[in-house]
Amino acid sequence: MQRTLIKDTVGKIGEEVLIKGWVDIRRDHGKLIFLDLRDRSGKIQAVVIPSSSPEAHAKAGELRPEFVVEITGKINARPERNVNKDLLTGTVELEVMGVKILNKAETPPFDVTSDGLDINEEVRLKYRYLDLRRPRMQDNIRLRSDYMQALRGALVKKDFVEIETPILSKATMEGARDFIVPSRFQPGKFYALPQSPQQYKQLLMVAGFERYFQFPHCLRDEDLRADRGFEHTQLDLEMSFVNREDVMSTVEDVVKEGVLAVGGKLKDEKFPVITYKEAMEKYGADKFDLRTEEEKKDGTLAFAWVTDFPFFRKTSTTEASDKFDSKSGWTFTHNPFSMPIPEHLDWLIKGENIDQITTTQYDLVCNGLEAGGGSIRAHTPEILRATYKIMGYTDAQVEESVGHMIEAFSFGAPPHGGIALGLDRHIALLKGEASIKETMAFPMTSTGRTSVMDAPAEISEEQLKELG
Ligand code: ASP
Repeated sequence: MQRTLIKDTVGKIGEEVLIKGWVDIRRDHGKLIFLDLRDRSGKIQAVVIPSSSPEAHAKAGELRPEFVVEITGKINARPERNVNKDLLTGTVELEVMGVKILNKAETPPFDVTSDGLDINEEVRLKYRYLDLRRPRMQDNIRLRSDYMQALRGALVKKDFVEIETPILSKATMEGARDFIVPSRFQPGKFYALPQSPQQYKQLLMVAGFERYFQFPHCLRDEDLRADRGFEHTQLDLEMSFVNREDVMSTVEDVVKEGVLAVGGKLKDEKFPVITYKEAMEKYGADKFDLRTEEEKKDGTLAFAWVTDFPFFRKTSTTEASDKFDSKSGWTFTHNPFSMPIPEHLDWLIKGENIDQITTTQYDLVCNGLEAGGGSIRAHTPEILRATYKIMGYTDAQVEESVGHMIEAFSFGAPPHGGIALGLDRHIALLKGEASIKETMAFPMTSTGRTSVMDAPAEISEEQLKELG
């Protein structure tokens, strides 16, 4: 017999079916045994009646929660008074004829049917494969997939090309420390894991693709917080022959299509645009929440743009990356590859009025949180050199750090700009989750340990030796 998915049982009243899945709950009512069965499509109530099949009844007595089973039986309509409106299959019931145990299960270390939010994080992540069985996590991860497919579809319709870029690479500044990988072939030399695909996506513009996107993992060695690990996923995109407004309106279209496709609710058809100065005056921060109390309750998403940020700031003693990124006491606020606004290009080139130079950066905020950020980029050697000069780089240091970009820009680089959206953050906002970890299949603990596999771990003497 072919397997029937649980969601399809409602259309099979009177038929015999084969179900494969897990035992969600077992309840014994005297001689009757009730089983809630679960597969990827939903849950169904099954009843094991001794007189229908004595063997099945005996076997069902061995079943415990999370056992993996194959159940054959007949789909019966439930009498009106027994219909369960909260269950997708609440109009039917499976009368069990045969039970086969495909695998037993130990009692899980925690309840996998609750929302799980009060369970210790270390335990949840050690057994993440069980934690992911809970309905809330199944929903989050499935919604994540749906949202990604919708964004991807929207971008492909707009002529974007999905292109992957390397993970083993050279450092690119995004304001965090780099993760470093030693080279076995060239002892004493190192790769850096990408903080973002920033440079590669710009090189793809030089290569003539004009419209690129991908969903890259970005690795940043930052201080950990309860809601943040070292790794996150972006929707990263870049476009040629565009100005700020072009990128912003493209991103707006794509985000709107994605949000609506997964049943999200938007406050504004057109995202409001606020300058950094106005935002600071009005909200005291560059991230703000535009929702009413009512909208907060119903899960509305209030997106807005923030523009006209200062390009540079004085380095701070608390930001660890500042001491690597800046040599002059000035560092970039958002992105060293950005273009200043046209009116301030001259100041940048001459290194004048540094504190007053405005960048073309645009940040996307949503419900008080940062949901993305991007800019129009420097696309000529002079502009990128000037930015690094302001940050105190000597010609040799510029060469060492971004010489390859400057060279690429000398071969006909088109004007271009782009953005990166925090994909995990978008899912958290869509689902009303407080932490982005609730949107990732295998996030890291707050102490920097990986789910299930417990890295970082020691490596052997031999491996260490090989790596020099
Ligand atoms: N690299 C991004 C950009 O497109 C920003 C980021 O990764 O945070 O501007």
